[in-house]
This record gives sequence, C-alpha cells and structure tokens, in this order.
Amino acid sequence: MPSKLVMRLVILGKDGESSMEAYCVKCKSKKEMKDAKAVTMKNGKPATQGVCPTCGTKMFKIGKA
Ligand SMILES: [Zn+2]
Repeated sequence: MPSKLVMRLVILGKDGESSMEAYCVKCKSKKEMKDAKAVTMKNGKPATQGVCPTCGTKMFKIGKA
C-alpha cells in the first residue's frame, strides 16, 4: 500500500513552499527565495540562505526552510 508514502511526500512539499519567503533589501519587499539552502549560523542556530528571484541579491532568513 503506497498511501503512507504519498501522504509523507505531500507534507514535505507543503513545508517546502510555505516558508521560503524572505525580505529583499534591494526590492524593498518580500520575495520567494530562490536556490534556498539550509545553513547554520555561528551561534549554531539554523538559517536559510538564498537569492532574490527578481534582482539576484543574497537573501537570509533565520530558521529552517
Ligand atoms: Zn530583490
């Protein structure tokens, strides 16, 4: 029965697209982060790093993607 696997994939997909927004200082607005990847800050806390889809400026967000 593949239903359990399908359910897990749906949950993962929902998580991924709901929290990728970050503030772009160049566009002065919130944008969907492109090429988002999980990084760890110097204090050991998780963060997400990516680039603005409009201007390519680096974006940074505290917390996991
Ligand atoms: Zn931008």
